Amino acid sequence: MTQEILNAITQAAEGAGATRINSVRVTIGELTEIVPDALQFAWEALTPGTLAEGSVLEVVETGGRSICLDCTKEFSHDRFERRCTSCGSYATKVISGDELLIDDIDVDLAEDASDGEAEG
Ligand SMILES: [Zn+2]
Repeated sequence: MTQEILNAITQAAEGAGATRINSVRVTIGELTEIVPDALQFAWEALTPGTLAEGSVLEVVETGGRSICLDCTKEFSHDRFERRCTSCGSYATKVISGDELLIDDIDVDLAEDASDGEAEG
């Protein structure tokens, strides 16, 4: 999963003419299987050798929210308990918290080629 995120980010950055990715902000819903700490760890393991090497990954977590199909109340909940907090119905529909979004990518562009980077 992290590899797919990294690929999507580097492709977007390359398409924009980036030479380097400085930081990335992603939004991860609490209802996904993705654990932010694990994502950070994987990011550091996968980025060396890519445009994103040395970049900062900022993870914004969003809580789960659903709407009850019986009483139409919206309520917050975690990954394990999705029952309506108002009427107790199990007939609920997730409206947020299951998303994985790339919010922002901060990059260096090729036109600024004045860096004196030395390969070590
Ligand atoms: Zn309800």
